[in-house]
Amino acid sequence: MANTLLVLNAGSSSLKFSLFELPAQGKLQAVAVGQIEGLGGAPHLEARDGDGRPLADIRWDSGQLTTHAAALQQIDALLRERFSKLQLLGVGHRVVHGGAQHSAPLLITPAALDTLATFIPLAPLHQPHNLAAIRALQQSHPGLPQVACFDTAFHRTQLDIGEYYGLPYEYYQRGVRRYGFHGLSYEYIAATLPSVAPAIADGRVIVAHLGSGASLCAMHRRRSVGSSMGFTALDGLMMGTRPGNIDPGIVLYLLQHEGLTPAEIQELLYKRSGLLGLSGISNDMRLLEASDAPRARLAIDHFVYRIQREIGALAAVLGGLDALVFTGGIGENSVAIRRQICTHATWLGVDLDPAANERGETCLTRAGSAVSAWVVPTNEELMIARHTRAVLGV
Ligand code: ADP
Repeated sequence: MANTLLVLNAGSSSLKFSLFELPAQGKLQAVAVGQIEGLGGAPHLEARDGDGRPLADIRWDSGQLTTHAAALQQIDALLRERFSKLQLLGVGHRVVHGGAQHSAPLLITPAALDTLATFIPLAPLHQPHNLAAIRALQQSHPGLPQVACFDTAFHRTQLDIGEYYGLPYEYYQRGVRRYGFHGLSYEYIAATLPSVAPAIADGRVIVAHLGSGASLCAMHRRRSVGSSMGFTALDGLMMGTRPGNIDPGIVLYLLQHEGLTPAEIQELLYKRSGLLGLSGISNDMRLLEASDAPRARLAIDHFVYRIQREIGALAAVLGGLDALVFTGGIGENSVAIRRQICTHATWLGVDLDPAANERGETCLTRAGSAVSAWVVPTNEELMIARHTRAVLGV
């Protein structure tokens, strides 16, 4: 088999992986995509080949496979069994936080890993797991090069003035600033726009990454100038289980008057809010769209309303708008939500073609629409693989 690169995305209870073949010349090709979910609970490994055909579907009893290291062993064994003579040249990791200093992917060294560990307080629910996967591989495959690709890196071109909060300046110096996230997704879209939508690629574009997490990125000349997310991935739009931007006074109120502990507030903000909290039904947009419950409708309408507000804010930052791009599970698939958002953006010049939207076409707007709207599927794994290839020079 040809040389390969492995891409890993380690979450709190899951480990997603993609194996890319690396032809001597030519494009990276995904040959296996899968994940182990339910680490620490009832683990389940599912994997498919590059054409979507099943490669593996394995379940373990509760209590087996509790660590990322154990999960990695299973993935390693599966890939070696399915792809004989696997030549793994390196591993690329999604690492949520690269701090203020990292605007590019980083080859992992012991010193680099120590630096990345200092960002754990900035992303307590993601960074420790991202780093755990790196450490596990260092133990099991000591010589294997590893590359960290950051969700914050693409936003390091944001407007300087936008990086501040109105707090005493020393907090900014200590790292309390707007970072922005979903950067690997936005970078992939920025790299794809010239071929998909050349007329607007270098213009003023708002990209809406609408998945379980959701954010908007304002781009000009395919560089980030602003994001709806800030110091943490809690900010900005309402998401599946996160509230997005809320009045900070609410956090004080919960602490001082509702008697919640910091740990309970963390859980409330990361796991119990957003579409799930408002609907009381689910964080899954498909279930909400299929539901007749009034609060399912409320949650969807509020989701859209928050996007509408944030589009206005970022269009103001850009000084106008040339295009709106949808991506992520909801952005790529929900006809109704795209219709609602585009209808609210009519004032900006978006002239939706409802039939094109229904058909899921790449361009959603009528010819002559002052602001065009597009659907561009994201591919964060491919972005990580490209970065890893470039850093390793393979
Ligand atoms: P993640 O951030 O976990 O990668 P995704 O980008 O896969 O998330 O997005 C997950 C969200 O996309 C879920 O809310 C899911 O309900 C929604 N979604 C996926 N397919 C559809 C669809 N056909 N219609 C509406 N929502 C969808």
